[in-house]
Parts: sequence; structure tokens; C-alpha cells
Amino acid sequence: MADRKCELLRADREAALTEKRQLAHDLGAHELLRQLDAVYAALQREPSFQTGTDFSVGYVEKLAEELKAALATLGVSAEKLDSVRVVATLSDAVSAQMTPFSDGSGLVIVSDGVISTCSSYCQYDALYIDRWLDRRRLRASVKTRMYKNADVLTGLLRYHTTNQRVAGVTTQLGMRLSPRGQQVAWRLNGLAYRFVIAHEIAHYVLGHSSAPSSFAPGEHVPVCSENERRERDADLLAFRATRRASEIQEDGRLMEMEAVASATKGALIAMLSLDLTEQALFVRRGCTHPPASIRAAWLLEELDGHWRKVMHKFFRIPVEATAAAALISENASPFSWESVSSAPIYSSMPQSHISSIGELDALQCLHESVQISVLNDRRSGSPAWLAEGARLASEGNPMQALVQWGLSESTSHRLCNPQKALTFFTLKDHLAASFAAQGVTGDWLQLYSVIAANLLASRLNAPRP
Ligand SMILES: [Zn+2]
Repeated sequence: MADRKCELLRADREAALTEKRQLAHDLGAHELLRQLDAVYAALQREPSFQTGTDFSVGYVEKLAEELKAALATLGVSAEKLDSVRVVATLSDAVSAQMTPFSDGSGLVIVSDGVISTCSSYCQYDALYIDRWLDRRRLRASVKTRMYKNADVLTGLLRYHTTNQRVAGVTTQLGMRLSPRGQQVAWRLNGLAYRFVIAHEIAHYVLGHSSAPSSFAPGEHVPVCSENERRERDADLLAFRATRRASEIQEDGRLMEMEAVASATKGALIAMLSLDLTEQALFVRRGCTHPPASIRAAWLLEELDGHWRKVMHKFFRIPVEATAAAALISENASPFSWESVSSAPIYSSMPQSHISSIGELDALQCLHESVQISVLNDRRSGSPAWLAEGARLASEGNPMQALVQWGLSESTSHRLCNPQKALTFFTLKDHLAASFAAQGVTGDWLQLYSVIAANLLASRLNAPRP
């Protein structure tokens, strides 16, 4: 059954690429278009490339096979390992999950969004290592002030999450790294990806029959149970499996301490990426992974005193940045190009898009009364039904607000169903479609739909007990 479902879930990456090209074209992002074409041309030259197939499969399957080989050496039966499949999805309505089927097979699904969040952390860490090595080589004091606070990493993460919240696209800022730095980032990203997959496979091999850690698009939010023990067990087995997989792959070339440090970093980054994805992109996410700080503490208990200290230090800035990036309130520091400009950042998106992401991030962080006043501002031509919906939302009637804003009863019911997972973008997208149908156009459409979704998000987020 996992096989069948896996085939159904295979992402149509050619369609996704066409969509991304169109978006890049609409935004005037010529550099991005050039890059997308270069990536596609390189893929087509791969011997395994076939039109109409998911070209991420090779990489995901390779990681899954490495992990299965590692788990086999840790005593997991071949039969068990043969019956679990792994697939990557483009869907933004899932973070990472394992679904068991009645025939005993299991399917692990990981979203592209989580992986691309991992890469922001990895690039940041690679830049740090790069500069640190340079400083040692030159015996000189190279500017490392950016690493004393979390601002740059927070900016990188907020750019990423704001794009996903308001535009539903996975895009990130790039970091100019030396070839050595790129290697570090790429390797670390592989380790983080491996840990995400390993955690979900671990749930399967440990026989965790319900999928406590996440949920699928459109499926019901799982009922919470006392599953901390399970999460901890899955984390520990995943950590052992990723370390073992590295040992097998490197065939003893890596020094023990280097292997421990990389595997730990990969695991910590994976936990933070999942935590940020679940906090920043979901309105309702049900019962998912425990907070990264708790999971990290479990993991660090596995290390000896020296490494625990080293990893604690490494973890400080990413933890601070994750909390700052997940915050949507007046206390947040919204994304701006200036907030990241002390690092060698580049983007293939036009400056106008980058500025608009900063403006929309600032907008969603305004005090609620200010956001409501924008919908009430009749001088700017805001229609009366918009203000009326805002009043209903602020009085705690999300269902009536949705209907007032022009959504059908059935769609409104679906969006309000506490048992269903809901992403911020899905909510915002429904509102934007309805506002557009009522004649709202241009920048107003984006402005009004982000505010309306924001007003509803805090009132729709708690699944009823
Ligand atoms: Zn889990």
C-alpha cells in the first residue's frame, strides 16, 4: 500500500518548474529564470533523467537506502526495512510524517519546504566556519561580529517564511561562500535531510502505529496522546542511524569527533527547521513534534561533556533566530534587506520583490488595531463589507467573518474545522480569491488578504479538546 500511495504522491516537478518560471517571469526575475533554466538543463543531461518523472527521487532514495543500510547494522530486520518507502512532496501542508498502512507497510513523507529551511541554517553555519578557518589561516582578526547576535540568521529565515506565508513559494536568499564553504553547507544539508527522514523511519521501525508526529494535507489532525517518549525514542534511533550512515559512507576517513559534530549539527538543524515550519507556516498543526529546544536537550544528553558544551555553544544563535523568526507580533523584527546586509547575501529575485516581502512582513507584525484600521479606512476606498468582516473577526466570529468576506458556507466550515490542518497560505489564498472576485485588485488585494488572514489566524489556531 505504501508503494501505491508513494506513486500517487510523486511530485510533478516539471509542472512546478513551469510554475516557478512563470512566477519569475511575472516578477521580472531574469537572473532566477536563467538559473532555473541552467538547473533544468543540467538535470536533463543526467543519465537517469526521464521526462515526466520526479527528478528529486534519486537523491531522496539514496538517502533512504543509506539510512536503511545503517539501521540494518543496528539490528533492524531486513523485512521491516524493505516495507517502508520515502517520498518528498511539494505540498506546503505537511512538514514530515510517517503513515503506517494496514498491510504493515509504511510511508515517510517529507516536504521540500522543510529541506529548504534547513539550507538557510546550513549556509549560515558554513559561512561561520569559512570565516573562522580563514581567521586561523591568516592569524588575523576577521570580522565575525555578525555571529554574536542572531539578526542575520533571523532575517534569512523570515524572508523564507514570509514568502511561504504570503506567496506560497519556497524561495530563499543565497550566501556567497567559498568553494570550501559550499561543500560544508552541502554536506550539512545532506545530514539534516538524512535526520528528518531517519526520524520518521524510526517511528516506523519502532512500531509506532499511529502517526503522532504530523499529518497529511486534507487529513484529520491526529489525536494527541502521551507521545513524548515515542518522539524521544525516534530521535535517538535517528541520531544513531545518521551517525552510522556517515561512518559507513566515509569509510573511516572522518575523524570520530568530526563525525559526531557533523551528525549532531545536522540533527539540531533538522529539529529547528521542523519547529520553525510548524510554528510559522501553520495556523493549525495539530499535535506535532515537540519544540526543538526540548528535543535538542534529549540529543545533547547522548554526548559526552566536552561535545555537549561545544554543541550548546553552536546551538545558541540558531535557537534565538528560530524563536525570533517564528514571532508574528509587534515585538518581532520584520525582514529587511538591511537586516542581512552585514553578510555576503545575494538574491536572484528583483529588489522590488525583496522590498515587498519586507513590507508584508512588517504589515503582519503591526498591532491588530492598526491592521483593522487599514480595512476600515474608507478614504482609501476600502469597501464596507471588508470592515464588517474585520469587526466580526475581531469579535471572535471567524466563521461569520469568512462568509461576510464572500467565502461559501462550505469552504468557511472547512477552514474553521478544528480537526483539519490549515496553513496560513491556504487561508490567505482563499481570502485573496474571494476579494479578487469582488473587484479588489493590485497591491490592495495582497494587503487586504494578508491582514484578513492574520486577523483570523489567531482565532482559528487551537484545535478544540
Ligand atoms: Zn516524530
